[in-house]
Amino acid sequence: MHIGFIGLGNMGGPMAHNLLAAGYRLTVFDLSADAVQGLVAKGAAAAGSVTELAASDVELIITMLPASAQVREVYLADAGILAVVAPEVRLIDSSTIDPLTAREVAAAAISHGNAMLDAPVSGGTGGAQAGTLTFMVGGAATDYDAVLEVLQAMGRNIVHCGPAGNGQVAKVANNMLLAISMIGVAEAMNLGVSLGMDPGVLAGVINTSSGRCWSSDTYNPYPGVIEGVPASRNYTGGFGTDLMLKDLGLATEAARQQKQPVMLGALAQQLYQTFSSQGHGSLDFSAIIKMYSGEDK
Ligand code: NAD
Repeated sequence: MHIGFIGLGNMGGPMAHNLLAAGYRLTVFDLSADAVQGLVAKGAAAAGSVTELAASDVELIITMLPASAQVREVYLADAGILAVVAPEVRLIDSSTIDPLTAREVAAAAISHGNAMLDAPVSGGTGGAQAGTLTFMVGGAATDYDAVLEVLQAMGRNIVHCGPAGNGQVAKVANNMLLAISMIGVAEAMNLGVSLGMDPGVLAGVINTSSGRCWSSDTYNPYPGVIEGVPASRNYTGGFGTDLMLKDLGLATEAARQQKQPVMLGALAQQLYQTFSSQGHGSLDFSAIIKMYSGEDK
């Protein structure tokens, strides 16, 4: 199969590499010439623009772009995919964007005759490199079945979440909960330690009791409790605060449009926004514990 890939950044670059490694013929485009060259060196062909790629003989186009604005531009603009692409070409957007934009772009694609799926991922850059991403996929079941093998070349856990937009719904709901649970664990750990508990003993109690969650037993924010997680290496690597802040913005905006209350999601968004404004945007999101414990932690 000949696949077109647009958006070769921290996530898209390694994902495209894994498609090449799986034997797919690949044509790529990115605004960054360096990013394109990186894939050409590994065997991909380069397109000079979005429309050159979309008008070629690709059978499937995958996009991995920063945010909704770029997704709209790449699909809907005069020099975008839908302006030139043949109707039978399948489209997958793996960017993390708001569900309503995903549904709008999918509707435009479908009315143009193109099957479209939203397929945001979790697993971070490590998962993109290792080919172990989780894909949350929205769109028709038959289209999902048709591209499953391609997604399996980049991920390990592929979940069909329902119709168009539902992949993004799953992604923003999960990440909003993750942000809230991380803040809860940070708050509880810091309270317990300030009252005299050993952090490891406290985490052990939580992790065998009803407070247990992924943020406590796999990614504990308290330094030294779990080896190898960002909290034990000064919050470097992992999932950046600013990326979490972006996802919380998508969740609270979707909630606003839906008139659905997200009290804790909105509070989490404000806490991460404050933390980012204090200059911590590049730290792993578990560093939010510094809001409770101070800079010396
Ligand atoms: P990135 O900024 O590293 O890469 C985005 C790429 O898109 C860049 O190379 C940029 O040049 C390119 N681009 C932007 N506009 C373009 C256009 N009009 N035409 C062609 N190329 C264009 O971002 P990333 O970290 O790879 O993230 C991509 C998406 O994946 C985002 O939506 C992000 O929220 C999501 N995501 C990221 C992570 C992560 O850990 N980085 C994890 C899960 C999901």
